[in-house]
Amino acid sequence: MNKEEQIICISYAGGLSYAKIGKNTRHRPAFIAGIIKANNVKIASRKCPYCKSIFIPSGLKQIYCSIKCRKFSERPRYKLRNMLRDRNKRKELINYLGGKCVGCGITDWRILQVNHLNGGGRREILLKGNKKIYKEILNGQRENEFDLRCANCNLIYEFETKRRNRVAWEHSVPIEKIIERREVHSTVA
Ligand SMILES: [Zn+2]
Ligand SMILES: [Zn+2]
Repeated sequence: MNKEEQIICISYAGGLSYAKIGKNTRHRPAFIAGIIKANNVKIASRKCPYCKSIFIPSGLKQIYCSIKCRKFSERPRYKLRNMLRDRNKRKELINYLGGKCVGCGITDWRILQVNHLNGGGRREILLKGNKKIYKEILNGQRENEFDLRCANCNLIYEFETKRRNRVAWEHSVPIEKIIERREVHSTVA
């Protein structure tokens, strides 16, 4: 091993990237990679920022000791990113569907919901997932199947179309009969 090769190996073990070593020694990164492979050099040990254990990374970019540590440590960041992405998608959908409640005209995106006009919304979400349905609506494949309602108006719609408490609706006793029964009861008492 000549002096130049030694310098390359030592700087790599110290954590420098191929590009930086190339700048210092005026060699192409591929040449440096070849030397490092030939001499079987490894980067010096690092400390995992999550579990604090010492490990030898397999590459320059490896910061955590394991995938598990990386996932746990970066979970909050991913969570926030996914939340913002979903929220933007929802806002896009709301704008596409008119941006306000069909019943009362409220425009607050926090309480606006996409209403399945023909029902079966929950089942479809379970089968397909929200993302797929959103995509279909935005691509214009599901015209006249949805409208936008606030949470209250959506609930009222469900009651009025007898979709909520269907069992109760089907087996309900007419109100006149209930009054009749009460009258009988009160006269006996
Ligand atoms: Zn770790
Ligand atoms: Zn409303």
